[in-house]
Amino acid sequence: MPGFELFGDQERAQVQDVMDSGVLMRYGFDGMRNGHWKAVELEKALADRMQVKHAQLVSSGTSALTVALVSAGIGAGDEVIMPTFTFVASFESILAIGAVPILVDVDNTLTLDPDAVEKAITTKTKVVMPVHMCGSMADLKALKSICDAHDLLLLEDACQAIGGTFEGKPLGSYGDLGCFSFDYVKTITCGEGGGIITDNDSYKANADHYSDHGHDHLGKDRGAESHPFLGYNYRISELNAAVGLAQIARLDEFLAIQKKNYSILREALEAIEGITFRRVPEGGVESYAFLNFFLPDAETAKRAHTVLGDSGVDACFYWYDNNWHYYRKWEHLIHKTSLGKLPQEVYDRLPDYSKSDFSKSDHWVGRNISCLIKLGWSEDEVRSRAAKMVEVFKTAFQ
Ligand SMILES: *Cc1c(COP(=O)(O)O)cnc(C)c1O
Repeated sequence: MPGFELFGDQERAQVQDVMDSGVLMRYGFDGMRNGHWKAVELEKALADRMQVKHAQLVSSGTSALTVALVSAGIGAGDEVIMPTFTFVASFESILAIGAVPILVDVDNTLTLDPDAVEKAITTKTKVVMPVHMCGSMADLKALKSICDAHDLLLLEDACQAIGGTFEGKPLGSYGDLGCFSFDYVKTITCGEGGGIITDNDSYKANADHYSDHGHDHLGKDRGAESHPFLGYNYRISELNAAVGLAQIARLDEFLAIQKKNYSILREALEAIEGITFRRVPEGGVESYAFLNFFLPDAETAKRAHTVLGDSGVDACFYWYDNNWHYYRKWEHLIHKTSLGKLPQEVYDRLPDYSKSDFSKSDHWVGRNISCLIKLGWSEDEVRSRAAKMVEVFKTAFQ
């Protein structure tokens, strides 16, 4: 997955443009810029690639989620449905605006289970936020029909699946809003950065203003602009955007490499009895950022993960025991541990997750191993990796 593996002349040249002008900020300083508007150009490139009207860049994927929620008018006390298996950014972005994260189970897609979503809807629910974990997507068709029936917003977190598609549409473009992360370990990176995509003109205008202190961005004098509503600073810098501009031009090249490496590993593992693969919803095409598979039970999966690591097969994850990506280790959320006082709405409405039953998630995540697909591997390296994996499963588990 990580685009940093293939940094080269294009990234260097883009960054050099910014250093030559000396303008590291995305707004203003028109006279000094030598025509360089890296953030603006990257927004256009992202919107074009994702086949949507608008893109808004921000400082991270986490802030993209926050700004996306705010841009659609979500605020204190509103409930946002999210999965038990995701990165902590999901609930962080919700809590940041005083809204309430409602965790629900994942199924054999390793993403939101539509039945569990439907059961979790209350009069306070405003958003369903599927997270397309590890290179593949939620059942967007089923989720969209639930959202339509209950008048809810569909916000896709496509941070780990950029370049995948569903029913021919780029992931992130199917719902009302989609979010990407361009942090250092994502498929394409800005170093730090994030993006929001939408076809909705007012969400775009709101995101644009909100992410820059509420500036309306009208006229040529930044100091004279007015502020139609309260905002915050979630801006990306020109330096970060410059790196991303080089990387987005290489996205399709990166996806082709991911697919090739993934296919070699998958073909090898398909021959192993007892291994099954994550379900990809009908109409979906993965980004191939990870290869995800299930073992017959949690104990075998845990042991297999250890043996893989000991055999030199690195970059495979057993998420069930992971501190950052699975609800079991989110003690700070479960116990509402924060530095300052949380908003009253969060205290009042956050479920007591120490008592929740997520056994359906445990069933799937407990049996899962996810292996990162790297861009820098040579074909020989992928083939020897595949052989090593087969060896591990043949000797240790059959
Ligand atoms: C990386 C990631 C984020 C957050 O992105 P940052 O840019 O690191 O803030 C959000 N959601 C998912 C699923 C991610 O993998």
